[in-house]
Amino acid sequence: MTISPDRIEELNALALEHVIPHFANNTMLSTTGPRIFDRGEGCYLYDIHGNRYLDTFASLLTTICGHHRSEVAQAIIEQLQRLEFFPNYEDAYTVPLIGLAHKLSQITPGDLNATFFVNSGSEANETALKIARQFHVHNGQPNRYKVIAREASYHGTTLGGVSATGLNWFREYFNPLIPGCLFAPPARRNDGGASLKAIVDLVEREDPKTISAIIMDPIPGSNTGYPLPPDDYLPAVRELCDKHGIILIFDEVQTGFGKTGKWFACKHWNVVPDIITLGKGFSGGYVPLGAAVVRKHIADSFRAPGKELRSGSTYGGHTIACAATLANIGIIERDHLVDRARDMGEYAASRLESLHKHRIVADCRGIGLLRAVELMADPKSRTPFPAHQPIGNFIRDWCYDHGMILRANGSILVIAPALVVTREQIDTIVDYLDQAIAAAMKHFGIV
Ligand code: PMP
Repeated sequence: MTISPDRIEELNALALEHVIPHFANNTMLSTTGPRIFDRGEGCYLYDIHGNRYLDTFASLLTTICGHHRSEVAQAIIEQLQRLEFFPNYEDAYTVPLIGLAHKLSQITPGDLNATFFVNSGSEANETALKIARQFHVHNGQPNRYKVIAREASYHGTTLGGVSATGLNWFREYFNPLIPGCLFAPPARRNDGGASLKAIVDLVEREDPKTISAIIMDPIPGSNTGYPLPPDDYLPAVRELCDKHGIILIFDEVQTGFGKTGKWFACKHWNVVPDIITLGKGFSGGYVPLGAAVVRKHIADSFRAPGKELRSGSTYGGHTIACAATLANIGIIERDHLVDRARDMGEYAASRLESLHKHRIVADCRGIGLLRAVELMADPKSRTPFPAHQPIGNFIRDWCYDHGMILRANGSILVIAPALVVTREQIDTIVDYLDQAIAAAMKHFGIV
């Protein structure tokens, strides 16, 4: 079905007039106009002009199994024909919700075994912070209110999520935020133990009995280009929490559901958090769903009569979302997409290494199918590009003009496609990046 030029013009105008995009990029909107998508198939998207794009960012890290999977559509239709929705309220459940909670108890690590369903990753983190606070109150420790997160982290857009987010851009208009949120430095592979020492010192300094939770993503997300922690970091943070009775929350909104080559990133270090938060790829992009999965002893503290968790929302655990998510997980299992992410990730890593032939490529890193290429004006002295050389934006736009959607955070290029990506598509991604980096160097006169 083609869309007429008149209708395209009208859609462009209506979009600009009536929609406030999330984290709107008004610079891009004012130069290129709205990008309006109409159709998806596997790793490809089609815009309203009929142009095809290879999506290297899986629709904001969601479409694990690719677009347009008939299995998910079928599960949604079947559920719609039985019962579109009943809330998971007080004493009420639905069949797909129970099935999904059971499945999560099987695929999440350790004794994580009971799920509180929400609608997004932000809400999942918001709820995890509330669960930690209420759990401590139940245990006679109402003074535990502080939260330790990490600098440069992103944990969501709600005020609780923003309070635990370490990137100032998301925080600056909303101060004062929730009191007691403190930030430890991010962990880096060869930091000589400095990041671990810093978080241990912070906990000791702040009086551990006032700390409710530590929240972190086991592998920080696309904003910082998936830097891996030192191997002893996460186990040591687990020990730190155990020693002081602090709840450990792993935000796996971005890293969960196979993207790292294991079901959850924390499995790479065999560390089990007290709460794991989920979103994005959890539902495969089909219907919004988030969750906080908690260890049994935490769930038990909310199960006695009179001790219910004081949180809830009308649509959290929507019936259709649970049915779609079960179908999404079914595809991941049936098609062995977790192993595929590991294998394709290794292939992508080996191909991306070839980009080091460009002298501005400072680092190719990541794990599984979460990869990043970091560019620097001078990689040897770790000198970043100056503001007047927006090299990442140039490369992003070059790729878009050539039919490829690429996420660029400053000069960090993110390659995180759906887990169904093929070797040929990875070759295309690397070839385009190669050409785009060369074009950017020429454009900015870099020799
Ligand atoms: N945590 C992480 C690590 C994320 O990447 C995101 C989304 N970018 C969130 C939380 C928030 O999820 P949502 O946008 O679904 O609210």
